[in-house]
Amino acid sequence: MTTQPTDQKTETQTPGINTVAVHGGDDRERAHQAIPMPIIQTATYAFADTADLIHFMQQKTWGNGIEGREEYGRYGNPTVRSVEAKVAALEGADDAVLFSSGMAAITSLLLASLPTGTHIVMTDDCYRRTRQFCLTFLKRLGIETSVVPMGDYEALEAAIQPKITRFIISESPTNPYLRIADMERIAQIAARHKVRTLIDSTFGSPVNQHPLKYGIDYVIHSATKYLGGHHDLLAGVVVSRRDRIAALRDARGVLGGIVDPQNAYLLERGLKTLGLRVAQQNATALAVAQYLEAHPKIERVWYPGLPSHPDHEIAVRQMSGFGGVVSFEVRGTLEDTSRFIDALQIPYLAPSLGGVDSLIEQPALMSYYEKTTEERLALGIKDNLVRFAIGVEDTADIIADLAHALEVI
Ligand code: PLP
Repeated sequence: MTTQPTDQKTETQTPGINTVAVHGGDDRERAHQAIPMPIIQTATYAFADTADLIHFMQQKTWGNGIEGREEYGRYGNPTVRSVEAKVAALEGADDAVLFSSGMAAITSLLLASLPTGTHIVMTDDCYRRTRQFCLTFLKRLGIETSVVPMGDYEALEAAIQPKITRFIISESPTNPYLRIADMERIAQIAARHKVRTLIDSTFGSPVNQHPLKYGIDYVIHSATKYLGGHHDLLAGVVVSRRDRIAALRDARGVLGGIVDPQNAYLLERGLKTLGLRVAQQNATALAVAQYLEAHPKIERVWYPGLPSHPDHEIAVRQMSGFGGVVSFEVRGTLEDTSRFIDALQIPYLAPSLGGVDSLIEQPALMSYYEKTTEERLALGIKDNLVRFAIGVEDTADIIADLAHALEVI
């Protein structure tokens, strides 16, 4: 089934996001007539005889095999392929390639694409391991990174070094302040300088935004988050044009970061309810953000769906929902903030986001624990900052839980 996601119905009735989430990428020819794609748990694939092997070798494109069969588990797997087709359909893309984690997706794409002596421009307020990979690992390979303030498009363009810069990398929404990249503007800057663009769309999900339609070259997701949606798997995905994905699939065969078939199966299962889950998370997050913004014990709320957010206008233009993460500053100290978190009954105190269970964390004590208050402030992380990743529990129960916990401080 060829499907393109859409948020609004057109006259030709393009399938909606929930139809694509259930049927996108289906081939309808599945083994044993099973409705879910089975878990093809194998490390290698047999050839009927030498003639079959020779036929395969003559037809194959390296690492991408040939239509309908695989050679070896590191190069591909039918369960994995099925999920790749579904994610591509959800993003309105040619193709997608799955990895064993979001970081495996990011590191494999950059390692495969960047020769020594090249340069990246990256926006700040991004996942700290991506920044760490670029600023330390890639630096050792002679690849430099300039980090520019999110939202400063003049600085972004000025940081581009002619013929040396190869990638502009941004997240949208970002972590933890949920800043929104103006993707059209980034794509225009990149086109002027012949630079490729990459958006980490993990916090947005394909329900809320489609970066490719603005001219972005690569979309990445930590599929561990919304795509999987149940806090039970690690996976990552890169979505792009067919030829670029074919090249990256070849690279995955060398770098080795393919997801295993069990996790691919869980991911496909999770993807079928992506639209339903994210719609609920969007709605609760907006209600929570509005509730917290009006609460006297909250100093500031960061949510792109609120007019007070610095990127609200871009978010309204670019997104059909504002996502399930709300960040906010509690009026009080690090310890007050911890007491509030400990008083909550519904969310687990845990890193990650995007699943059915709500999760909450104080970034100062989670991702930035080893840093001093001053070092954290230099990175923009306040002691009283909370990141609330909303699940699919009832909105009223989540708000009642917040109200009760705020009473203890
Ligand atoms: N990108 C973003 C925005 C993330 O938040 C994360 C993880 O938290 C990653 C990438 C890395 O993904 P994974 O944990 O699946 O390796």
